[in-house]
Amino acid sequence: MSLKYQVVPVTSFSQNCSIVWCDETMKGIVIDPGGDEKQLAMLIKELGVDVESLVLTHGHLDHVGGTEALARLLGGKAIVGPHKEDNFWLQGLEGQSQMFGFPLTEAFEPDQWLNDGDVITFGNQTMDVIHTPGHTPGHVVLFSKEAQLAFVGDVLFNGAIGRTDFPKGDFNTLISSIKNKLWPLGNDVRFVPGHGPESTFGRERGSNPFVADEMPLY
Ligand SMILES: [Zn+2]
Ligand SMILES: [Zn+2]
Repeated sequence: MSLKYQVVPVTSFSQNCSIVWCDETMKGIVIDPGGDEKQLAMLIKELGVDVESLVLTHGHLDHVGGTEALARLLGGKAIVGPHKEDNFWLQGLEGQSQMFGFPLTEAFEPDQWLNDGDVITFGNQTMDVIHTPGHTPGHVVLFSKEAQLAFVGDVLFNGAIGRTDFPKGDFNTLISSIKNKLWPLGNDVRFVPGHGPESTFGRERGSNPFVADEMPLY
C-alpha cells in the first residue's frame, strides 16, 4: 500500500495545494485548497479520489481561499484544521481578500480544529499532526511516517523559511518549530512546501541559510 499525492499550484500566488490519497482505497484529503476550486474538483474527479476532508495548514488566504467552495463542489466535505490559534486569520478573511486583491472570501470556521499529536486517517493511511507556530500561531504540519513525507505549508521552503512579520508571527518561534519539531523526523524526510519546489530536511540542514546546522569554524 502506499500514499500517493499530486501537487497543484493554485491562485496568482502559485500556492501548492496537494491532493493526497491511499492507493488501496482511493480515499484521500485535499491540503490547502487556496483557490481555483473548479479546476481542483475536475482533477480530483479525473484522479478518482474519494475526498473525505479538506485539511488546512494555516489561516492565510492563499492557502484557504477555495476551501468552502471546494467543500460544496465535492458535495459537502469536512473542513479540518488549522490549530485554533489561527482563528483570527480565518475570521479576518474578508480583510485579507482586500489586502491581497483576491475575490471576496467570507470568514468561516472549520468543522474541527487540529492539535499537536492528532492523527488524520484516510483509507489505510495516517498522517500525524504537528503544531509548528512561528509563521502563524496556529500553523500545523502533516507528516506521513510510512511515506517519510511532510506537508509543511509556509513553515519551511526549499532554501528559505516562512515570513514572520505578520501579526502574531515570531522568528525565534519559527526557528524553534523547524529545529525542534521537524528535524527530529529525520534527514531523509521529503517535504512539500506551501510555495515552490520540494526538498528534504537533510538538504535544508545542509544549505538553508536560515536553519542550516552550524558550520565548523576552520
Ligand atoms: Zn502563509
Ligand atoms: Zn503562503
